[in-house]
Amino acid sequence: MTGLEVVGADVQALLARVRSGYAPPPDLRVSEFADAEIVLTSGPLAGTHWQTDFAPYQRGIMDAFHETGVQIVAVMGSSQWGKTSCCINLAAFHMAHDPCPILVVEPTVEPMAMDFAKHRLQPVIDASPRLRDVVAKKRSRDASNTILAKSFRGGAIAIGGANSAASLAARSVRLLILDEVDRYPAELPGEGSTLAIAFKRTTAYGRRRRIMLVSSPTLTGGPIDVWFHRGDQRRYHVPCPACGVMQAYKWANVRWVDRDPRTARIACEACEHLIDEAERVAMLEFGQWVPEAPDRADPSVVSFHLWEAYSPLSTLADIVAGFLRARDAQKAGDAAEMHTWQNTTLGEPVEPDQGAGVEPSALVARREAWPDGVDVPDRAAVLTMGVDVQDDRLELLVVGWGPGEESWIVDRQTLPGDTSQPDPWESLDEVLAHEYRHGLGVRLPITATCIDSAGHRTALVYDYAFRMAARRVFAIIGRDGQRPIVSSPAPKRWGQDRRKVPLYTVGVDAAKAIWISRLGLTEAGRGFVHIPLTDWADEELAAQLTSERLVRRYEKGVPVQRWKKIRARNEALDMAVYALAALRLVHPDLEAAAARLRTEPAPSTPTPRPPGWIRRRPGGWLRGR
Ligand SMILES: [Zn+2]
Repeated sequence: MTGLEVVGADVQALLARVRSGYAPPPDLRVSEFADAEIVLTSGPLAGTHWQTDFAPYQRGIMDAFHETGVQIVAVMGSSQWGKTSCCINLAAFHMAHDPCPILVVEPTVEPMAMDFAKHRLQPVIDASPRLRDVVAKKRSRDASNTILAKSFRGGAIAIGGANSAASLAARSVRLLILDEVDRYPAELPGEGSTLAIAFKRTTAYGRRRRIMLVSSPTLTGGPIDVWFHRGDQRRYHVPCPACGVMQAYKWANVRWVDRDPRTARIACEACEHLIDEAERVAMLEFGQWVPEAPDRADPSVVSFHLWEAYSPLSTLADIVAGFLRARDAQKAGDAAEMHTWQNTTLGEPVEPDQGAGVEPSALVARREAWPDGVDVPDRAAVLTMGVDVQDDRLELLVVGWGPGEESWIVDRQTLPGDTSQPDPWESLDEVLAHEYRHGLGVRLPITATCIDSAGHRTALVYDYAFRMAARRVFAIIGRDGQRPIVSSPAPKRWGQDRRKVPLYTVGVDAAKAIWISRLGLTEAGRGFVHIPLTDWADEELAAQLTSERLVRRYEKGVPVQRWKKIRARNEALDMAVYALAALRLVHPDLEAAAARLRTEPAPSTPTPRPPGWIRRRPGGWLRGR
């Protein structure tokens, strides 16, 4: 946009104001506007008038652009502080009182931008007479008012998705609202950094631009963490009801008794008074934002930090309960829930694991001898299997699971043979028909199996999963990136009669993180991985299980975590991932299953072992023919 166009835009805005016959009071603030005009349309207070006093810390955030020289406001926070409402109030203020082109960016067009436009912004417009009045009425064959783009007197608002270059690349805007920036793709293919593209839209407005970035953080060095630290880093200080000393609520000062979240209080830093739930919320009214870095390099950036202890809609009990759950999972080797809790409850970024992996020699050294004639020790209650399909062989790993997902590596085999031919698949039938000898005298079959369908044998894997569906054999495809360990399946139709087989997507990054972290545990119990002292559980198996490290890389200045292979062969880790996916697919109650085994009478005469099961070692599979 040229300078002339900028002037043009301003003249347009001025003309629009004159036409509308309304001149706003020059000192009206966003919070005052919201108190006067906005009706809440969602959440527990829907239908009531907006009151900034309900969560008074919002005033400083909404009104930050009224401070002299402020162009960029960054808010790093938990997920529950009223962020969407503050963004809408800011946009609505500009629609009604200070018209200008506005762009709101959500992480995705579908569903997030559509949701924001349809279910958050539109109801607010409909509920406010002043906004209804300024927003163009929808007319047939008129593109000026659609779900994602609306014009109003003197300006227009567009809602876009950071995953779409088209929705970021359009005309200049003066107000840019960037929601959940840590969930944006770091860059758009062929276009460069997503944030840079968005920022460019405001260049023409120079110092009059207003950019609001809000997000819960992800990793340290992520976009919202970076912008928070470029700003003056304000925290909301409140007076202790006992001694009056001003202080910020800190997680470090939260106290509770005996794992009971209902006893949670915040200890005053000065007098150790235990601030209870009623005091916690009541003190908000007397709070003020205090910058921790007032002498930052760029005074045009201000930043705010908030976490859930400030929210009148949360309770300390919920916060502590969430922490205790996350810590239990972490002790069992699953750090994902703790990361999420830190990001979305504390509003703090997480320092990524720098790739301190597990040494294979440590695994070999701690192998355990199981009792004679026992394939599965007492505490393991359920068996699952992961199968990797190569052109010339099937590889499999059988894992036993007990309460707390404590696990035992029970079996590891190679079934050689051209996998386009029936032979190796018939061998797999035999494995599925086999029952392992349990320490309590019973025999355990494999409960569920995941087979990788990527590679050259996709149709054969579908065939096999279809045929063995009753044995809970699942076709899976591994995908990296932030996704759950198992997603809901996509039905795949194949073959002449177009049979349907569910294909499950396995989030390999999350599953690998769990295995690598659990393999590093050193005390038996929740999450611990037991490895048998057998010939097949050798250096090679240990090396394969520990074959990847989590490393942090910068991609266009944004930190991302990626798994990096530190050796060529890693099938054992892949199979362990599939065995975990199989467990999560059938999600058995491991406590109940273990209890059942203890009460089940052992068979009086042991079932004879089928031939061919005498020796099992890598590459040493002997067919029982
Ligand atoms: Zn005090």
